[in-house]
Amino acid sequence: MDNCLFCKMISREIEPDVVYEEEDVLAFRDINPQAPIHILLIPKRHISTLNDLQPKDAELIGKLSLAAAKVAEQEGIAEPGYRTLMNCNEEGGQVVFHIHMHLVGGRRMGWPPG
Ligand code: AMP
Ligand code: ZN
Repeated sequence: MDNCLFCKMISREIEPDVVYEEEDVLAFRDINPQAPIHILLIPKRHISTLNDLQPKDAELIGKLSLAAAKVAEQEGIAEPGYRTLMNCNEEGGQVVFHIHMHLVGGRRMGWPPG
């Protein structure tokens, strides 16, 4: 997608701080971390929001979760614990309209979220 920040990272038009990559998924550090570890995992295929998911995307979403668990292990937060979340649309706090999973950890998470 033209003009999508995360698509530009996939094409390396903008260079992300990559921590993990596989065929369908890219993971990189968030530029404005909200915790000691804050990583974004994105599908390499553009999907704007969770509302746009199709049944054919089920495996891709599964791959995002599996990659998040792998990166959590790599970052040393698997055992103490971490949080994954995906924001959808304005009230959900979505700012970049290419779906992404946040992986946050390295400190105790509060609940409920803000
Ligand atoms: P969301 O609010 O769920 O759409 O999350 C978008 C995330 O992208 C925010 O946590 C931003 O800090 C992050 N972000 C924005 N621009 C960049 C960038 N150039 N590199 C890495 N992360 C970014
Ligand atoms: Zn995109």
